[in-house]
Amino acid sequence: MKVPKTMRTYCPKCKTHTGFNVNIYKAGKRKGAKKGERRQARRKKGYGGQRFPEQHNQAKVTKKQVLTLKCNECGYGMMRKGMRLKKLEIV
Ligand SMILES: [Zn+2]
Repeated sequence: MKVPKTMRTYCPKCKTHTGFNVNIYKAGKRKGAKKGERRQARRKKGYGGQRFPEQHNQAKVTKKQVLTLKCNECGYGMMRKGMRLKKLEIV
């Protein structure tokens, strides 16, 4: 699916329709020093290994893709509901 780089939609902060910049949401990089990562490293240490089952056979073949919108006038950011797509392109 092709999505335009800019779109006009309602801005709840400006309380009117304004132009928005469109981007595809990307999850942040995992930081090894974070609490959960440290805890998991402690769990996996030594004899015993993985504590939770790892999911191997996924039912879905696509991931939900989220669009992030940013108001050109006030800078208000919001996200569009995720949709399942094989390919999402910003044109
Ligand atoms: Zn706005």
